[in-house]
Amino acid sequence: MDRPKRSQRLVATVDLHRSYFVGSEEVKALRGVNLVVRPGEFVAVVGRSGSGKTTLLNIVAGLDRPDSGQVLFQERDVAQMTESELTELRRHELGFVFQSFGLLPLLSAFENVELPLRISGVGAKERNQRAREALDMVGLWPRSRHRPYELSGGEQQRVAIARAIVNRPPLLLADEPTGELDSVNARAIFGLFKQMVKDQGISVLAATHDSTLLAMADQVKEMHDGSLIDHVVQKGRFRG
Ligand code: ADP
Ligand code: MG
Repeated sequence: MDRPKRSQRLVATVDLHRSYFVGSEEVKALRGVNLVVRPGEFVAVVGRSGSGKTTLLNIVAGLDRPDSGQVLFQERDVAQMTESELTELRRHELGFVFQSFGLLPLLSAFENVELPLRISGVGAKERNQRAREALDMVGLWPRSRHRPYELSGGEQQRVAIARAIVNRPPLLLADEPTGELDSVNARAIFGLFKQMVKDQGISVLAATHDSTLLAMADQVKEMHDGSLIDHVVQKGRFRG
């Protein structure tokens, strides 16, 4: 598939609203969120816990639906897609990385990365080649035979990223991908996103509450009580 041009929109959200009811009390998780991610762009959404970041990412991933508003993926309204179109979208156009790496403990790094290709019915030879490419990209081919427990947290997250991109999706979604990592590994993961965006032309939408990582993103938005605003860098905020 040809990648869309940079000037186009890969994903756009239009006035997303989402509330949760806890008993009779309404929690407004999203209050009219508009966001555009372009091809080959690294967008970071920063905001404190409870501000709505996960809700936004889950809706973009099609894991949750908004009460109102739209998600347009390459200008197609996700809400209008059939079940099989949604499956296609999740398998081939989106990769998802979570805070807790989510690797299968009994499988090696290689087998974890290869799994989405098996599910997509890709043949053995191509699986082998593509899993290797993805592990190479995150610098972990030499560790491909290791099980997750034999890898550091940073390495496990890199395997999870390799698994998320092995189907070559145009968009990688990452929800607090550095939440369980120390600052050195956290910087390495954001550095990897930056490099993947530059070298592979994929787009990354990553949520974080760590403002020290934001300098690596092309675009930074701040989620505040369910509203997305342009992030303003405060003096001294990147110290340390
Ligand atoms: P963040 O990822 O920025 O921490 P979330 O999107 O998880 O924020 O949550 C936004 C708000 O919605 C919070 O007030 C949270 O408590 C509430 N919320 C999220 N998920 C649920 C749920 N399943 N049921 C009730 N409230 C929820
Ligand atoms: Mg969250």
